[in-house]
Amino acid sequence: MSSTEPNPATFTCVRCGLAVRGFGPDGDPRDHCPSCLSSRHVVDQTGGTARCGGRMTPISVAVQRGGAWLLVHRCVLCDEMSEGPVASDDNHLVLMGIAVRPLAAPPFPLDLLGEV
Ligand SMILES: [Zn+2]
Ligand SMILES: [Zn+2]
Repeated sequence: MSSTEPNPATFTCVRCGLAVRGFGPDGDPRDHCPSCLSSRHVVDQTGGTARCGGRMTPISVAVQRGGAWLLVHRCVLCDEMSEGPVASDDNHLVLMGIAVRPLAAPPFPLDLLGEV
């Protein structure tokens, strides 16, 4: 992450229309909506400005070594993926929903776990 672009003071969520401040409660730049966790494809993988502008859907969470969560987004237009830190006021229900989704729909019968 070497973006030198100044973060906009506020942006409007492309999914739910919420007016989102450009910085989270911890002072970190915010790249996604704290309510529905959607983002917009405005930064490309090199940290430059992406021309795409498509909506980015939160598809997964990842845990960093120190325990902090990253939110993984994929663009609905160009399929590029990005990751960004989770803010403390991000919607916990939506976050947990994303985190448990693979467990809620495993690709094999859960009965098998009992036989291990
Ligand atoms: Zn939103
Ligand atoms: Zn895109």
